[in-house]
Amino acid sequence: MAKVIAVNAGSSSLKFQLFEMDDETVITSGVVERIGLEDSVFTIKYNGEKDSRTLSIPTHSEAVDMLLNTLLEKNIVSSLDEIKGVGHRVVQGGTYFSESAIIDDDVVAKIDELKSLAPLHNPANLTGYYAFKKAIPNAGAVAVFDTAFHQTLEPRCYVYPIPYKYYTDYGIRKYGAHGTSHKYVSQRVIDLLGNPEHSKIIVAHLGAGGSLTAVKDGKSINTSMGFTPLAGIMMGTRSGDIDASVIDYLIKEVGLDGNEVINMLNKESGLLGVSGVSSDFRDVCAAADEGNERAKLAIDIFFRRVIAYIGRYFIALGGCDAIAFTAGIGENSAFARKEIINLISEALGIVIDDDANENGKGERLITKPESKIKVFVVPTNEELMIARDTKRLLNL
Ligand code: ADP
Repeated sequence: MAKVIAVNAGSSSLKFQLFEMDDETVITSGVVERIGLEDSVFTIKYNGEKDSRTLSIPTHSEAVDMLLNTLLEKNIVSSLDEIKGVGHRVVQGGTYFSESAIIDDDVVAKIDELKSLAPLHNPANLTGYYAFKKAIPNAGAVAVFDTAFHQTLEPRCYVYPIPYKYYTDYGIRKYGAHGTSHKYVSQRVIDLLGNPEHSKIIVAHLGAGGSLTAVKDGKSINTSMGFTPLAGIMMGTRSGDIDASVIDYLIKEVGLDGNEVINMLNKESGLLGVSGVSSDFRDVCAAADEGNERAKLAIDIFFRRVIAYIGRYFIALGGCDAIAFTAGIGENSAFARKEIINLISEALGIVIDDDANENGKGERLITKPESKIKVFVVPTNEELMIARDTKRLLNL
C-alpha cells in the first residue's frame, strides 16, 4: 500500500490530497489558508465530513506539522512512514524541466533560480518542499511543473517577435501554464476518442485563471498563457492579451508606476475590472441576469476571447477532432459552454446536445453524432497527475 500526498503550496496557503495509489482513491484532502496571520484556517475532509478550525499558523512548517498530526489523530494513517512520496506542484520549470523530477539539491537550485519568472509561486513551492522534508524526511519528493507539458512548443510559437537578445540573454519567451491540467484533460480526451494514432485537440481550461492549449498527437503545440499567466484570454482578475502601449500610456499619461500597472493587469482587470461586480463568473452572471450592462459586456468579452483562441488553434492544428472544457467555469457552467459553442458552431459545424450539456454530470460528450467536432466536458485532476508522477518516479 503506497500513500502519496499531492501538495500545492502558495505564498499563504497549502492545499493537499492524500492518495492510496493502489486504487488511486483520495483518502483525505484539505487546505491551510491565511498562513502567517492570526486567523489561519485549517480545513480537512475525511469520510465525507469536513472539519474546519481557525487558529494561528505562523509558517508553512507549522501547517505541515498540524496536517500530519491530524492524519495521526484521526487514524487516517497509523504511522507517517505510510506516506512514501510527496508530490509538489511547482509553477515555473523554465527550460530545465520538460518532465516531472525527483527533488534533489540540483532541482532545488533550479527552482530557486527560476524565481525571477514566478516570484510569488516558486519560493512558496520550495517552502512547501522544505516543510515536508523536515516533517517526513524518509518520504521521496517529486516536483511536477505547470510549464513542463508546454516544453514541446517550437521556437516559432514560443519566441516573441522582439529583439532576439531578450530571449537568449534573459529567457523572455512563452512558457505557458496549467500544463498539468492540459496534459490530464488531453489524455482523457484521447482515451475517450478511442486512442487514435493521431489526434487534434483543443483544451479550454476556464477557471479563475484560464488558458487554451492546442494538443497534437498528445503534445502541446501552442498555449495561450505566455511568459507569465497574464497572457491569453480574459480571466477573473487578469486582462489577458492587451496592446503593450497601454502600459506606457498608463505610466506617462495616467501617472501609475510600473508596479501599479502590472498589479492592475493581474489583480483588478478581467471579469472584475470590466463588470465592476466580481471576479467570480457566477456573480457576474447573476448581475447580468439582473440587467447589469457592464456585467453583460464582461461576459461577452470573455466568450469572444475564448473563441479567438479556438479559431487560432483550429487553424494551427489543421482542423480539430475534439474540444474539451475543464476547470471551474468549463466544468460547471452549461451556459458558458453553450454560448461559446454557439459562437463557433456555424464556422466549425458543431452540433451541441443540449440535454447532455445541461443535465449531464461529470466527464461526458456534449455534442450530437452529426457534429463535425466532438465537444467534451472533462473535470480536471491535477492532484492525481501529481500523485501518479510521484509514484512513477519514486518506483512506489
Ligand atoms: P482556480 O483557477 O482558482 O482553480 P476554478 O477552476 O475553481 O479556479 O474556477 C473558479 C471559477 O469557476 C469562478 O469564476 C467560478 O465562478 C466558476 N464556477 C464555479 N462553479 C460554477 C458554476 N456552477 N457555474 C458557473 N461558474 C462556476
